[in-house]
Amino acid sequence: MPHARLIAGDCTTTFDGDRSYEKRGRVACLRKPDDTVLVHDADGYQPVAWLTRPDAAMVAGDPPTVEARDGDDRLRVLFHETSVDARIPVSAAGVPVGPCPDGPGALVRRSGALACTDCDRRHGLPAGATVLDSTCECGLPKVAVTRGDRFEVCADRSCEPLDAAVRERFDRAFDCPDCGRDLRVVRAGGLLLGCDGYPDCDVSVSLPDAEHDGHCDCGFPTFGGRCPAPTCSSP
Ligand SMILES: [Zn+2]
Ligand SMILES: [Zn+2]
Ligand SMILES: [Zn+2]
Ligand SMILES: [Zn+2]
Repeated sequence: MPHARLIAGDCTTTFDGDRSYEKRGRVACLRKPDDTVLVHDADGYQPVAWLTRPDAAMVAGDPPTVEARDGDDRLRVLFHETSVDARIPVSAAGVPVGPCPDGPGALVRRSGALACTDCDRRHGLPAGATVLDSTCECGLPKVAVTRGDRFEVCADRSCEPLDAAVRERFDRAFDCPDCGRDLRVVRAGGLLLGCDGYPDCDVSVSLPDAEHDGHCDCGFPTFGGRCPAPTCSSP
């Protein structure tokens, strides 16, 4: 579990960079696991000083000084005296989607991933995935993903790989419009339909987030009523 450092007390905050200033006050300073530094005083929701995901941040000394650098920006929080100095466990916070199979934590969805509030479990989700109420045998929720068809797979790609399900459905299901060989399901960043004749034939299209529903005049399968070929001029 990642930790944040929370230091509270009387300090002088200096910022050198595009907006230089010095501020003195009794504040709470938070250094997040991604090195983001926030300084909060008594008022409002906005920090009085901050540096988001800087190149580097460090805490040293007693009483401590927090220093963060990002390019030419430099934030320095020099404590004269502290009332709190603690390492606190923190997790991603997001929409709760169910219990963690491994322990007391909750699985939450945040930034295209499922993460546990209590352990290191984290699963990146395919783009456009919907988390379902149904549960895989492994205890994780299932997700629905559309790639030419609607697939329901485990949120853990290693448990039930999306690629294998898509391959089973669409590998060699269509002919290449240029040379007639099979279109294969390949992963290159995203999932593609690529000609089996590669490199002699380099026809390939990305497999859209829509369902297969017919054929275009140019020979490609259509998805959601549209031809996936970027150069296709058919309506
Ligand atoms: Zn967990
Ligand atoms: Zn599973
Ligand atoms: Zn081809
Ligand atoms: Zn077309």
